[in-house]
Amino acid sequence: MNYLSTRGDDTRKSFCQILLEGLAPDGGLYMPDEYPQVDETVRAKWRTLSYPELAFEICSLFISDIPSSDLRQLINKTYTAQAFGSDKVVPVTRLEEGLYLAHLSNGPTFAFKDMAMQLLGNLFEYELARRGQTLNILGATSGDTGSAAEYAMRGKKGINVFMLSPHGRMSPFQQAQMYTLQDANIHNLAVQGVFDDCQDIVKAVSNDLEFKRRYNIGTVNSINWARLLAQVVYYFYSYFQVVSSDDARVSLAVPSGNFGNICAAHVAHMMGLPIYRLVLATNENNVLQEFFSTGTYRVRKPSETFETSSPSMDISKASNFERFIYDLTGRDAPRTRQLFGVEVPEHGGFSVNEAEFDMLESYYGFVAGTSTHADRLHTIADVYKLHKVLIDPHTADGVKVAREHMNGIVPTIVMETAQPIKFAATIKEALDIEPPMPQQAKGLMGMPKRFEVVPADVKTVKDYIVKHV
Ligand SMILES: *Cc1c(COP(=O)(O)O)cnc(C)c1O
Repeated sequence: MNYLSTRGDDTRKSFCQILLEGLAPDGGLYMPDEYPQVDETVRAKWRTLSYPELAFEICSLFISDIPSSDLRQLINKTYTAQAFGSDKVVPVTRLEEGLYLAHLSNGPTFAFKDMAMQLLGNLFEYELARRGQTLNILGATSGDTGSAAEYAMRGKKGINVFMLSPHGRMSPFQQAQMYTLQDANIHNLAVQGVFDDCQDIVKAVSNDLEFKRRYNIGTVNSINWARLLAQVVYYFYSYFQVVSSDDARVSLAVPSGNFGNICAAHVAHMMGLPIYRLVLATNENNVLQEFFSTGTYRVRKPSETFETSSPSMDISKASNFERFIYDLTGRDAPRTRQLFGVEVPEHGGFSVNEAEFDMLESYYGFVAGTSTHADRLHTIADVYKLHKVLIDPHTADGVKVAREHMNGIVPTIVMETAQPIKFAATIKEALDIEPPMPQQAKGLMGMPKRFEVVPADVKTVKDYIVKHV
């Protein structure tokens, strides 16, 4: 299996060659040169596998430059009951007639990003050791991504993490999660500013190519192919837990922001997983819902991007979306380059043609819907009253939109993307109760914190990195 860029640079690269990279040199995203096909016979065999066994089968189809025994070991040490709360790793529960929840948020930071990031940490450590290199990960976070990255990279040899967060602006639980880490390779920089200031600093440092090369600066953002690959696994795994025949179809409902999670579902679909509908849920930031309903993709200005109560879905553009458009256009790289390299930057968007628009649902299975703050509160309260199940605001967006698209025949699996404790204020608003503290997080709020407050200044951040690598 080799990888190429969505924008036409077709120098074939191996998995480990793209593992530590972000964008391809031509600005595109890496894609596998083909989707391995998984037929009914293979699915029947996979049905009985444990989560790590299944992860190994799927990953080995896409990774040809890590010896099998090493890959198996990396996967086995990632998906443990200790890290993910149970032997199942991703338990699936029935919520109501035809509607299921796949619990992706039982990892160390209680959000689905752990599913991929925990594997990424082990893959990075392995590949860096093999190359005799080190990596300094620089990132900006408003919550979920930063903590998932830090818990994945803590204590890893050859890796430092420098994570910028807006000082005093994350929820108390998120601050406790990140700032109580005492590992010497984890550096929390609390920037006196907002999230955009943090992102601007990361961009400025990364654009200084000399500094970037000299200090081995890298990232772990959601366009990393290895993250996407790790996410393909739980779609197959959830499918096996819901239907007992290997050709029955299911629908998948995914609370979406940067199109990473649902892009992995699309990959599973292209590999042959029998999917009826891919139900994409957005919040008030409905860039993607608009695209799937009208065929027009329109990037939002900062003034049109809202801060909502499902903050991990607050996006102005969707960074993985280019991967789907590449497939939709029949893998037409010059056209993808025109759309994302020219139309998006210059005019802020594009429209697909009529034939492509027709295929969105009929061939690719995509349908979409939007959920508002009022919908989230209603859904959280409704699900709790009907089923005594507490869901977080992002999952509530998924449940709300999933219910709108159910047909009474095909079961729908909603991806649960975070635990309610991370968004306690919204739970309190919906139900006037405090979400329970997960067992693994007991005591967290009282632990000593370790972070550095810095001004929103590029030079200060660079100096800090130089002093601590
Ligand atoms: C990141 C995140 C999402 C959005 O996932 P994408 O892959 O960006 O579409 C949804 N919910 C939660 C809780 C998240 O952390």
